Amino acid sequence: MSQINFDAWPEDCRAAVSLTYDDGNDTQLNYAAPEMEDRGFRGTFYLSCGRDDWRERLEPWVRVHEAGHEIGNHTVGHTCSRNFHDEPGAPGLESMTLDDIEADVLEAQRRLGELFPRAERSFAYPCYMTHVGMGEGRQSYVPVIARHFIAGRGYGEYGFSNSPHNCDLACLWSTPIEHMRGEQIVGLMDLNLRRGRWLILTMHHIGGARLGTAQSEFDKMLDWLDRHRDDVWVATVATVAEHLRDNVQ
Ligand SMILES: [Zn+2]
Repeated sequence: MSQINFDAWPEDCRAAVSLTYDDGNDTQLNYAAPEMEDRGFRGTFYLSCGRDDWRERLEPWVRVHEAGHEIGNHTVGHTCSRNFHDEPGAPGLESMTLDDIEADVLEAQRRLGELFPRAERSFAYPCYMTHVGMGEGRQSYVPVIARHFIAGRGYGEYGFSNSPHNCDLACLWSTPIEHMRGEQIVGLMDLNLRRGRWLILTMHHIGGARLGTAQSEFDKMLDWLDRHRDDVWVATVATVAEHLRDNVQ
């Protein structure tokens, strides 16, 4: 199985890793992006753009975009399940239609395009949730994302990455690495390398915050990728997805 996958990657690499970051926190801007650049790596930063001052808030990310990182789409409203809320009738994905979510992601696409122009941009499902409606009316909005994006990042089973041949580019598996030790993260990357697959890791804060990946553990991850740069292709989600679409799937 692995033998098949090893051939899927460019530059004699035998596996791929994408580092992704959600919600545009300052620790990503001030720590993660520069640390990646120091080692010649580029990542994907998924930004929402729903606030009235979205343009001013996103302005600092222009530098990150211009450094070659991908600025990905994370919707305007960052809408997740209404089940997070207690007040009756609270809004959420269950009260939205496919048309609603399509209008939201296209507006986000328009806004991001003004500040961060690029040919292909990937999408990350807020809270990893891929549905609208509820009960008998519940529907997947993966087809909406497939229509408009090179790739969509969803949630995967722990320890599993993406088969270059068989993954659904519109609903890729990713693994959150909040609160993980560096050794665990390295273990995931090592397993991925031995299987020749595409591992997508998701982070929020770098540092001690609620969804934090500690700086020391983050550094261990980058050090491992640095040591394995001949074997592991580190690239943005859009870049890897384009490669798979054009050459493998
Ligand atoms: Zn988010």
